[in-house]
Amino acid sequence: MNKENRPVRILLAEDDALLGDGIRAGLKLAGYAVDWVRDGDAARLALLDHAYQACVLDLGLPKRDGLSVLRDLRARGQQLPVLILTARDTSADKIAGLDSGADDYLTKPFDLPELQARLRALIRRAGGVAAPALTHAGVRLDPASKRVTRDGQPVALSAREFTLLRDLLNHGTHIRSRRQLEESLYAWGEEAGSNTVEVHIHNLRRKLGADFIRTIRGLGYRLGDPD
Ligand code: CA
Repeated sequence: MNKENRPVRILLAEDDALLGDGIRAGLKLAGYAVDWVRDGDAARLALLDHAYQACVLDLGLPKRDGLSVLRDLRARGQQLPVLILTARDTSADKIAGLDSGADDYLTKPFDLPELQARLRALIRRAGGVAAPALTHAGVRLDPASKRVTRDGQPVALSAREFTLLRDLLNHGTHIRSRRQLEESLYAWGEEAGSNTVEVHIHNLRRKLGADFIRTIRGLGYRLGDPD
């Protein structure tokens, strides 16, 4: 994969350790960045906290059922494609899943190549839906074209700078801790060094203006106040 192309980030919610490990390994090999959670509460939190391009969701999850995670997600208006994995192969379960906002489903056991093919199709279709641009204080980030402009002028960002900027823009002027920002970078599978976030924030300020990102001592970072 080209270094400048950001990997598609997928949330995998599966409590079966063997199956989850196999799916994660397969999807990583296929070039996806995969976050794996093992219960419904963790899935819900991850979906609240991160921008994923797709979710592979087991229905039978501890703590919170997959259907509940899905309904919650759709109730918030999040439109990412969701592929349900289920051992429940009655048509009533499939109907409930699709009616709750799933885009596709696979019944266990399934072949990994089929899962990958279905995911590719879902993500391709979702790519046709224009994601709204994120804007703040003269800076505009277009998630679809991956272009960033400042006062209408193109700004060249590295993929990691882009990831951090998108994370900050997604949270407005709410504070993001360094740990939360590091997690955005972990999706790259890289070990973030102790000052990785600081380095990227420094570069973003250089490119977008010193006041664009504020340091909140002891807490993290947030966007500066809008003009
Ligand atoms: Ca399960």
